[in-house]
Amino acid sequence: MKPAPFKYLAPETVEDALNLLSQHGDDAKLLAGGQSLIPTMNFRLAEPAVIIDLNRVSELNYIRETRRSGGLSIGAMTRQRQVERSDLVAQKAPLLYETMPFIAHPQIRNRGTVGGSIAHADPAAEFPAVFTALNAKFRLQSQSGNRWVSIDEFYLGMFATALTADEMLVEIELPASPKRSGFAFKEVARRHGDYAIVGVATAVTLDRKGRCEDVNLVFLSVGDGPVTAKQAAVTLTGETPTSQLIEAAAEAAAQQDIDPGDDLHATAAYRRHLANTLAKQTLTLAFERAQNS
Ligand code: FAD
Repeated sequence: MKPAPFKYLAPETVEDALNLLSQHGDDAKLLAGGQSLIPTMNFRLAEPAVIIDLNRVSELNYIRETRRSGGLSIGAMTRQRQVERSDLVAQKAPLLYETMPFIAHPQIRNRGTVGGSIAHADPAAEFPAVFTALNAKFRLQSQSGNRWVSIDEFYLGMFATALTADEMLVEIELPASPKRSGFAFKEVARRHGDYAIVGVATAVTLDRKGRCEDVNLVFLSVGDGPVTAKQAAVTLTGETPTSQLIEAAAEAAAQQDIDPGDDLHATAAYRRHLANTLAKQTLTLAFERAQNS
């Protein structure tokens, strides 16, 4: 099928884009890489009257060190492929760097943007889980100004976010990683590049004595959005991360922290099994990396 007719607008600045968004509100959709929006329009699952194409808004395309915090700032229109190839991302956000090749296929990453994936809020997408594990915050802008929201405030459910009709996601900010931190990402998909059946992004920090100071284990594809394993964190925090404790934390994550459903791709029981295995693997790797950092 082809999309329903729409009016096409192509601003060149954030200011013009926000002006158009405030004029058209709910009737308009922002177009980023088009890798999710265009298929939904082709299937007539979305029929926006107006498309505001952000592809000429070059001021939203950047990856740079955040001066005040030493973290990383990424513009919403940065292509996924740029993130995958960035030395700065490799250095400042190794978890994000390690995850990039799992997102779809190179052709899709060439067009798909970081902001588009975040705003789309697909529970099977990798970015929301990785950014949750890294405590990212998002800058949303409208004609009335900017506001920063934490990732927990941003995701409201499946394909639902805190963005209002006149707002645009403009920037993602990642804090600098504390010393003695380690990270790991793993997922299982039927074929490489498919959406994952289950995935997990893991970030850990050790204290000076080698005890677990902080742990963020965040799953994708097991709920309505990124799911943080809270009980697993309770099991590990303050303790020396032995293999028995990691096994107990992975079991808690799979049995208590997530509540996956059955669908065409996998049963809930299989998803719990994968979650347990992936949690164990990523925790082990992340703690090893933290010890060697
Ligand atoms: P678009 O499709 O242009 O937009 C998506 C939505 O976000 C729209 O509603 C749009 O209005 C809104 N939007 C875009 N930019 C902004 C902004 N700055 N502010 C506010 N709203 C905005 N993704 C994965 O994570 N993992 C996968 O394994 C994966 N596999 C894929 C396989 C295939 C075959 C395809 C076609 C896609 C796949 N994707 C996957 C999705 C891909 O990563 C998309 O690029 C991404 O979800 C959307 O990014 P986009 O830039 O293309 O956004």
